[in-house]
Amino acid sequence: MRTAIDLARKAERRPGLAPIGCVIVAGGAILAEGSNEVALRNDPTAHAEIVAIRRAAASGATTELRGATLYSTLQPCGMCTMAAIWARVGRIVYGAERHQVHEMYFDARHLDTIDFIGDAFRDDLPVVPGVLGEQCAELYLKPGDVVPEAEQGNI
Ligand SMILES: [Zn+2]
Repeated sequence: MRTAIDLARKAERRPGLAPIGCVIVAGGAILAEGSNEVALRNDPTAHAEIVAIRRAAASGATTELRGATLYSTLQPCGMCTMAAIWARVGRIVYGAERHQVHEMYFDARHLDTIDFIGDAFRDDLPVVPGVLGEQCAELYLKPGDVVPEAEQGNI
């Protein structure tokens, strides 16, 4: 998670990147890293987790990341949660939780898609929230922060 936080901090300083970091680890080694590259690539799917999943799969010439742990500085959104399920990730660990950050970071209004995992998709995919949660939350706008509407995502 510390590596993911470092990635997020580096991304914060680069145009086109947003301060979200993701690291995928398997067998004690980092398979791939990713930052949010949505603006850089003009690609709304280029969230940090998707970027890292694509790189990890490509590096192993596989579509399955069984046994791998995905670390993200922010609770994964619905798209990234589903991508992790499709990639057969073995565990999801994230830092900042939804209640710690501004609502603009999430698409869903009334539910957390990450909660679907155990209920609807896989009961063998542990989800570990809040790892270095306070440090991760410092990367993001807080609930109630004033953000001009034009700068808010998902609204
Ligand atoms: Zn996402």
